Amino acid sequence: MSGRPPREASHPRPPMRLEEALARMLDGLVPLPAEEVAVEHLLGRVLAEDVVARDTLPPWDDSAMDGYAVRSADVTSAGADAPVMLRVVGEVAAGHAPLASVEPGTAVRILTGAVIPRGADAVVRVEDTDAVAGVAALPAQVAIRRAVPPGTSIRTAGSDMRAGDPVLTAGTVVAPHHVGALVAAGRASARAHRRPRVAVLATGDELVPAGAPLEGAHIPDSNSAGVGAQVNEAGGVAIRMGIAPDDRVVIRERLLAGIAMADVVAVCGGVSVGAHDEVRPALDEVGRVDLWRVAIQPGKPLTFGRAAAPDGREVLLFGLPGNPVSSHVTFELFVRPVLRRLLGLRDLSGRAIIRARLAVAVTVDPARRGFMRVVVETTATGGPVARMTGSQGSHALAALAAADGLAVIPEGMGRVEAGTEVDVIRLDQGSLASGAGQ
Ligand code: AMP
Ligand code: MG
Repeated sequence: MSGRPPREASHPRPPMRLEEALARMLDGLVPLPAEEVAVEHLLGRVLAEDVVARDTLPPWDDSAMDGYAVRSADVTSAGADAPVMLRVVGEVAAGHAPLASVEPGTAVRILTGAVIPRGADAVVRVEDTDAVAGVAALPAQVAIRRAVPPGTSIRTAGSDMRAGDPVLTAGTVVAPHHVGALVAAGRASARAHRRPRVAVLATGDELVPAGAPLEGAHIPDSNSAGVGAQVNEAGGVAIRMGIAPDDRVVIRERLLAGIAMADVVAVCGGVSVGAHDEVRPALDEVGRVDLWRVAIQPGKPLTFGRAAAPDGREVLLFGLPGNPVSSHVTFELFVRPVLRRLLGLRDLSGRAIIRARLAVAVTVDPARRGFMRVVVETTATGGPVARMTGSQGSHALAALAAADGLAVIPEGMGRVEAGTEVDVIRLDQGSLASGAGQ
């Protein structure tokens, strides 16, 4: 047993506070380098540069309406019952340079987005004329039935953006409403932080792949898929390393493979104090375990360390507890903020935290901060209420699936009465999965 980290029984150090554990994980961590990403793949990516407008838009004064470009002074007396007749001297459509200019007593038919011809200082929309919208033939003259002050229905050059204007800032998570502005700013691509690659390894002799029939003492490996989904939702790229048996040699080999190809390795199970918990010793063989055990419930056995990849990169190692709810909660509280730091985000949570009253009393270990699986409901009497979704056991995946939040029970509480107001971390917001904005 020499070389193994001490087991819990002989471990004098109490579990670490959540904030201290997270600070250690984030210590010295900087965003991953940027890469050039084509605009069609930028959704959900974090910009690594400020984007400024290349061009002034619109480049010229243009028309906001289909109608007639006029000199406003010509039509000051125009009204519904007092039309002013103007001679139509030409037409200008979007994408074409105006050939005719507007002299006193004349008008040029104009379409939305077309450049305002010389001489004109306003556009009368077609509805305020006797012209019929959609008729191709150019009339010889047009009756203007409304007076228009200068500037009417003209979009001035630069009224959207001017060359050099800031359009999007570094750190922005690209959402659908940003994409058009990026292209308008003259870009077909932008620099975004590389997505962190996360190798996910499940361990346990009892595990069989998703969908496989259960024989004997087997259970489905829910963590590979569940943690993989969390990686992708957080903006990373999950690399599935499969299931390793409770065999230190095999686990070590898989860890080394993960370290060689990923920025982060998340191994699930085997970090507790059981006789077959081989992960912590294996982590210590491939790298260095920095911390073990955090004062949270569920998720106490969480383990963290670092290793050097063959190419010299530092790779972060997470030993997540095997119980699926524990692995989910520890990922949410620790791996997710780490991935967000690597992604170049300043807000490391990205989740909304709301206040809600507990629907029932709960009892937790006062030495740990509790994270209960709840659904938030709004009641007729006002204020959100957090209702437990079922068993709060750390194996209870159905109750996790029914939840939309984690109610936070502070340390030192023990029993908390129904009606007590607590923080609830909303799990249904802040997704960076590819194809999602923020
Ligand atoms: P361990 O951390 O390995 O002691 O596992 C704690 C509990 O979580 C045990 O009941 C395991 O069967 C279960 N468990 C471990 N890994 C997984 C997994 N990948 N999927 C589902 N349950 C798991
Ligand atoms: Mg196990």
